[in-house]
Amino acid sequence: MRHGKGIALLPAGHDDYKRTLADLPQWYELSAVCAACERIARVDRYEMAGRFGGGRKVGSLASRLVCRRCGNRQGNRLLIGMMPRD
Ligand SMILES: [Zn+2]
Repeated sequence: MRHGKGIALLPAGHDDYKRTLADLPQWYELSAVCAACERIARVDRYEMAGRFGGGRKVGSLASRLVCRRCGNRQGNRLLIGMMPRD
């Protein structure tokens, strides 16, 4: 699964979703996907760590997301994307 400029998204259930925000490698970034309108938005992982704490697991944060386009809070997903390393 790919979107944007060559960013590969890890499938849900991947082991890296059990990592904490502070524990994610630097080249990982986060994208939020709205269940209602399917908006995909980049999420600033450092802002998330500041807001919720670096000890939070990535997989536990999806329920905190609010879509900025339609306001939906239900069923949203937080996906890990890896930037190309070259
Ligand atoms: Zn939405």
